[in-house]
This record gives sequence, C-alpha cells and structure tokens, in this order.
Amino acid sequence: MLQHHSAEDRLRADIVRVCRRMHERGYVSGWAGNVSARLGDDRFLVTPSGVPKSDVEPDDLIVIDGRGAVVSAARGLRPTSEVPMHLCAYRRRPDVGAVVHAHPIHAVALSIAGDALARQYVPEAIVVLGPIAVTPYATPSTDENERVVDDVIAAHDAIVLRYHGSLTVGRDVDEAYLRLETLEHAAQVIAAVESLGGGPEIEASQVAKLVAQRATSIARRAAPAHLAEAPICLRQDAPLVRR
Ligand SMILES: [Zn+2]
Repeated sequence: MLQHHSAEDRLRADIVRVCRRMHERGYVSGWAGNVSARLGDDRFLVTPSGVPKSDVEPDDLIVIDGRGAVVSAARGLRPTSEVPMHLCAYRRRPDVGAVVHAHPIHAVALSIAGDALARQYVPEAIVVLGPIAVTPYATPSTDENERVVDDVIAAHDAIVLRYHGSLTVGRDVDEAYLRLETLEHAAQVIAAVESLGGGPEIEASQVAKLVAQRATSIARRAAPAHLAEAPICLRQDAPLVRR
C-alpha cells in the first residue's frame, strides 16, 4: 500500500472520479483517454497506460516529473503514452492545473466533417470554452500530437485533435473535465442543427456579450489575457510540419 499525503490523496480521488465519469458518459472507449494534474513543483499525476478509465484506482496513478520520467508507480504500471501533450500544456500554461484527453464522438465527428465546430450556436460554449481549436491530423501517442497541441494551447482551453479526440484544460481536474462535457454537449447541439439543415448563428452583438463574460472570467482566474482574444482556429488542412 502506498502512503500519500492528504492533498495528494484528494487529487488521486478527483482524477479517478473524473475517469469513471468519462467512461460512464461514453467519452472514451477501450483503453483510451487520459487525465493528469499538477501535483507540485515539477511533479504531475497521470493515468497509467493499459487500464480502462472505468477500472482506474487511486494507487494506479503515476507520479512523473516535467520531463516525463517516472518518479513513482505502483505494480509495474507505465504512464499514458500521451504524456508529452499533457506536459506541453503545463509548460505553455502556468495557469493550467489539470489536463483531460478523451475521444468524444460528436466533437471528433465534427472535426472530420468540416468547420461546423466554429458555429456560434451554444452560449455556454462561447463563455466556458472560447473558440474551439481544431488541429490537423496527428498520429496518436506520437510527438506529432505534442506539436499540434503546442501550436494552439497558449490561446485555447479546448482543442479537438482531428480524427482523434479532445484536449481540455482547467485550473483543476473538475474544471478540465467540465470543459470536456461542455465541448461534447456543444458538438451534439451543432450536429443536431446541421442534421436539420443548419440554422442562424447567435447574432454578433449577442456573441459580443458572451465574449465579454468570458474575458471577465479569464481575468478572475488569472489566466493569460490573450485567451480572451483567441481567434477561431480551424486548421484541419494546415500542414503537419511547422517551423
Ligand atoms: Zn487519444
């Protein structure tokens, strides 16, 4: 039995709760999805590779450092193969305390079908997520993923990796998870509207009020101010290699 400090115990319990919820809501399948949280100075808790999110236990979570090296792990478990994109988010965003990666069906489907994720149909998505960034396709579990996340994470709280899944960030595990819920709910609404033949977006003057609400909440949580000015970012066809 591993001994943990109580703050770490709480963080482990939070991550496990979010993993179960991701499974229950169908945001992941099989062994997919991963969750991480900032534990302390150069220390992060991450979910293990090869354990379904429905079965993750608090002691399964692995402590790594900022370079991805394992600091402590139970019974031979290895960290998720998506560690590089999680660490990228922490490196670029000191305001971020947790990262959630899932495979939500509607968000992924819309990233493949066209540019509909940019439609302004859902007020709470405008406030909670801001513009959703869609990246070009990148091979899962490779440094291609880290690269496409690195391109957009500085200015976005919600990213959809085309053909693959979502990456949402927050101050804590619950905030990062609730952004995933908001993202997938918005994607479901957008998909439903599109299946009905489309509809008018929220009028610009009304969108401006929601954007102002988002700017206020960004200032309140001491997040980088440029988050409030994030451009709509749909880069499905942008080349994979940059620089
Ligand atoms: Zn994935």
